[in-house]
Amino acid sequence: MEAPEFRDFAKSMVDYIADYLENIRDRRVLPEVKPGYLAPLIPEAAPEKPEDWQDVMKDIERVIMPGVTHWHSPKFHAYFPTANSYPAIVADMLSGAIACIGFTWIASPACTELEVVMLDWLGKMLELPAEFLACSGGKGGGVIQGTASESTLVALLGAKAKKLKEVKEEHPEWDDHTILGKLVGYASAQAHSSVERAGLLGGVKLRSVPADEHNRLRGDALDQAIKQDLADGLIPFYAVVTLGTTNSCAFDRLDECGPVANKHNVWVHVDAAYAGSAFICPEYRHHMKGIETADSFNFNPHKWMLVNFDCSAMWLKDPSWVVNAFNVDPLYLKHDMQGSAPDYRHWQIPLGRRFRALKLWFVLRLYGVENLQAHIRRHCGFAQQFADLCVADKRFELAAEVNMGLVCFRLKGSNERNEALLKRINGRGKIHMVPAKIRDVYFLRMAVCSRFTQPEDMEYSWKEVAAAADEMEAAE
Ligand code: PLP
Repeated sequence: MEAPEFRDFAKSMVDYIADYLENIRDRRVLPEVKPGYLAPLIPEAAPEKPEDWQDVMKDIERVIMPGVTHWHSPKFHAYFPTANSYPAIVADMLSGAIACIGFTWIASPACTELEVVMLDWLGKMLELPAEFLACSGGKGGGVIQGTASESTLVALLGAKAKKLKEVKEEHPEWDDHTILGKLVGYASAQAHSSVERAGLLGGVKLRSVPADEHNRLRGDALDQAIKQDLADGLIPFYAVVTLGTTNSCAFDRLDECGPVANKHNVWVHVDAAYAGSAFICPEYRHHMKGIETADSFNFNPHKWMLVNFDCSAMWLKDPSWVVNAFNVDPLYLKHDMQGSAPDYRHWQIPLGRRFRALKLWFVLRLYGVENLQAHIRRHCGFAQQFADLCVADKRFELAAEVNMGLVCFRLKGSNERNEALLKRINGRGKIHMVPAKIRDVYFLRMAVCSRFTQPEDMEYSWKEVAAAADEMEAAE
């Protein structure tokens, strides 16, 4: 394809994207296709001769859209949101054009340097302690990871390297194998499944600590677990504090857990994957009280801050633990400026990395902090609106405190009734939700996800839930 055709193709795609997103509300949120639907719609092998881009465009509606779950529909309430905005989409076009692989500074200085500055901008928006920011002139700084899961794993590997060094200094007679077998990390029973996976991938034990009746990890429980492990000859090294749990958006008490972990010289990683975006609003920052005790902090602008996937922001007070843990230095990756700017390949699992800071830059500039704050506040307001509708219907109850843009609710009565309700809701295909279970109580989660959501959409979604309940009662 040459430039004249590219211009036509891309312009046509921009029109298609704008039409798709502006009219997304009218599409059925959940597709009706069955597994294997797609292969019969396209040829069995790649074409020998080039096709016209117009034919490719036509196939989007024929082949792709029937199998798309429309995450940006105001009727999509599953999981947590994933972000989508025009500035981020345009930035990804430019990133695709530059198409650099910014593993070292010299591999594309702008890619590294914009990332350093954007993570400082973002850190300031959240009022992170200066120690996390590169502009403070200390060791700290930020990096864009692909996902929160990667951040949790990277932090765990940094913590592991740190503890290994400390223990070796204390016990030169112990070999790595002996020490690694004793390491133990901690997370609440409500932590995301990616934390457990980080333990598996990192080859260390992670212990699940019970949360309190509000689903929060408390300092006492963490202290007790650590003390018990110390008494059993284990070596506590890592604790994950979740701000905004996946099940119910509960906030672990960082102000309690942080000091406990610090006292025992345990690395504190804060996973604020979803709720971290809300910390750009001063009224939500009380949830991050104790942040100065953390060693690493992560949240996903790609969830709730209008930056398209993938953009998971991570800050480290002392990145050298991570950098040194992964440092393999072949000649072909060396450069003359080494040490003067971050070489982000050392801060992450893969070598290659895209120019992801562009979409952060475009979004921050084209929305401005005030509009991003307004976006968060609107979503929190919509959750409250839905919760009010829910409690006004005597058949229903809230299953957890309403936090951020998430409402956890259920029909009063058995888990089976609620399972049947959700099946009916998703079966009707007009809105989409997923369930969660805490201490054997099954409930439905209504996450506000779309930036297109209006108050009428919340009314629509509630009416859908109520209609499914009516239908169920009639069948009963
Ligand atoms: N941590 C929490 C609290 C989450 O809610 C999620 C996903 O929803 C994750 C981690 C995983 O995020 P990612 O898909 O970016 O790895």
